[in-house]
Amino acid sequence: MNTKIKIAGAGPAGLSAAICLAKKGYPVEIFEARDCVGGRFIGDFQVIENSSRDEDICELLKRIGISTEFFFKPVHQSIFYDHKLKPTPVKSRKPFAYFIRRGSEKGALDAGLLAQALEAGANIAYNQRVAPDAVDIVATGPTVPDGLAKEMTFSCDLGETVSVLFDHRLSPGGYSYLFVLDGQATFGCAITRDFDHINNYFNASFNRFQEIHPFSTANEKTGYSFMNFCIKSSAQENHRLYAGEVAGFQDYLFGLGIRYALTTGFAAAESIIQKEDYDLLWNKEIGQAQETSLVNRFLYEKGGNAGLRMFIAQAGRQDLKTYLNKWHRPNSIKKLLYPFVKWALGEKNNCQHHISKHWCRSKPTSTIKTQLGPTQSPSDRQGPMDPIES
Ligand SMILES: Cc1cc2nc3c(=O)[nH]c(=O)nc-3n(C[C@H](O)[C@H](O)[C@H](O)COP(=O)(O)OP(=O)(O)OC[C@H]3O[C@@H](n4cnc5c(N)ncnc54)[C@H](O)[C@@H]3O)c2cc1C
Repeated sequence: MNTKIKIAGAGPAGLSAAICLAKKGYPVEIFEARDCVGGRFIGDFQVIENSSRDEDICELLKRIGISTEFFFKPVHQSIFYDHKLKPTPVKSRKPFAYFIRRGSEKGALDAGLLAQALEAGANIAYNQRVAPDAVDIVATGPTVPDGLAKEMTFSCDLGETVSVLFDHRLSPGGYSYLFVLDGQATFGCAITRDFDHINNYFNASFNRFQEIHPFSTANEKTGYSFMNFCIKSSAQENHRLYAGEVAGFQDYLFGLGIRYALTTGFAAAESIIQKEDYDLLWNKEIGQAQETSLVNRFLYEKGGNAGLRMFIAQAGRQDLKTYLNKWHRPNSIKKLLYPFVKWALGEKNNCQHHISKHWCRSKPTSTIKTQLGPTQSPSDRQGPMDPIES
């Protein structure tokens, strides 16, 4: 008889672990802090990137036992804009990403993963904010902002649009994006510094997109959310396994963590089933990629808008998936740069990440302090920057 496995957090990492374990006959109890899955998102479109690894995401999902019983749409083309609004069409023969939706509504990734976990026999308990030491797998998502995003979903009169604007003045260290599919739109502005001014960056980026193609908005919903990234040698503590963003698993170049969450959730489950070392399993899958993404982030930030223009121009000249894949491949220059980048970007104070021994940029700002209130710690609050609906 397998022992019961307790999982904290019903995001992609926790649910991926639950699906794998339940399918192998383990009794699984998932504890979710909110009253639904995907509650920190607003039904927004996100992408599961398909360029950082050679394995297509469809193959990965099949390998880890997840079926695409949710909105899942391949993306082959986009328009990238530089800070002067010069448009560069980019495309790829095979999808460079897949659109999904986040949230608890039918068709959303979170709802689809939950359905598969329940069907496999897992149980979920809502409104249960549990401490890490009460569970076997901790998959509670980001704890402090290493990157911050404000998003808006709305109904829109534009045709299908997949546009990304790269301008460090309007989204410092990040980018802004407008996705419109079947009249439903997601606009977002993601930044990695100056978090206090997220509203200004959001508004300025939004106005810039209106210059590109004027559009109407209706039924708007807005929300804030953040992302974690850190580099660790171990993602376990006292036999507890940390999966997904709570352990800082993330592609740091563009802040895309779903692929990593699904992969590390599965690795945590496999480590329990096969009795193999979790650190070996996740390292084999994404260890090197995490390090390369840190170097990529350094180049992205330090190259300024001139660097972004070069990035866009190169992307427009070749197959986008192949181009992005080259960025994510470790090479001798990136390996040489890695220790320097760690030193150059690293900060030693104020770290509030859960995972104990790691490298990070450790920079909680007054934005998070305002959200938490003066006396709260990350574990006291209701959730990672609850969506604030307008
Ligand atoms: C605005 C925004 C846009 C993004 N867009 C993309 C994108 O396009 N592509 C991409 O790949 N990534 C994207 N990301 C990142 C991606 O959303 C995350 O990497 C991913 O959701 C991480 O999954 P997770 O399971 O680790 O955490 P989460 O999805 O955050 O799930 C964690 C769950 O744990 C619950 N929880 C928290 N604390 C506790 C507790 N103590 N007890 C029980 N439950 C708890 C939370 O309520 C939550 O449901 C985006 C992030 C943001 C903020």
